[in-house]
Amino acid sequence: MSDKETQTEDATSTKQQKHQERQQKLKQKVDERIAAASEDKGLFLVITGNGKGKSTAGFGVVTRAVGHGYKAGVAQFIKGQWECGERNLLQNNGVEFHVMGTGFTWETQNRESDIEQSELIWKEAKRMLADPSIDVVLLDELTYLVSYKYLELDDVVNAIANRPDGQHVVVTGRGCHRQLIEMADTVSEVQSTKHAFDSGIKAQKGIDW
Ligand code: ATP
Ligand code: MG
Repeated sequence: MSDKETQTEDATSTKQQKHQERQQKLKQKVDERIAAASEDKGLFLVITGNGKGKSTAGFGVVTRAVGHGYKAGVAQFIKGQWECGERNLLQNNGVEFHVMGTGFTWETQNRESDIEQSELIWKEAKRMLADPSIDVVLLDELTYLVSYKYLELDDVVNAIANRPDGQHVVVTGRGCHRQLIEMADTVSEVQSTKHAFDSGIKAQKGIDW
């Protein structure tokens, strides 16, 4: 082996050793934090912000839970133009779904009937939030009904706060009320960097709905 080759080999093994030391320290820190986090708790998650991915993430949580054999329920507070693909899949896997029968505000433009519809779905949501046999409840697009004052904030706060021990709840939608953000355990804000719609591309089946 030439001197140059030996030098290169030494440098590689020093690099490898340093990498291993760094990873070892990192692992130690992560292990310590995992050991310190010992509490089990029904979580309240909020997924808000203007970027794409909030409902996708909410349904991801439901899918994850169902995959573990947990019972889940979904209330969708806005009916889109299209039926979302997750419903077809999850309903077939025992997830109960409650979806608003009409469009919402910009489609119906009828405050009275929107409030009536919201209250119907909210009644089902409240029932799920009081049912200890349901492990995960997804309240998709709930935030708008609070901002539009179609639902009483206090009623929403109380139903979530008094849910059965161990039940997880996920709220999605833009502009989540400060009080819900404060009481949540985990809050993620999805930011929009760019969206295909702004380039004139219509909502794509399987991606957007
Ligand atoms: P998704 O259901 O895809 O996870 P989302 O729940 O984050 O999206 P919503 O505000 O509920 O977003 O809007 C639902 C629809 O609007 C989806 O078809 C989504 O692709 C589209 N959308 C989401 N964010 C944006 C955006 N920043 N610009 C344009 N369209 C968007
Ligand atoms: Mg959404």
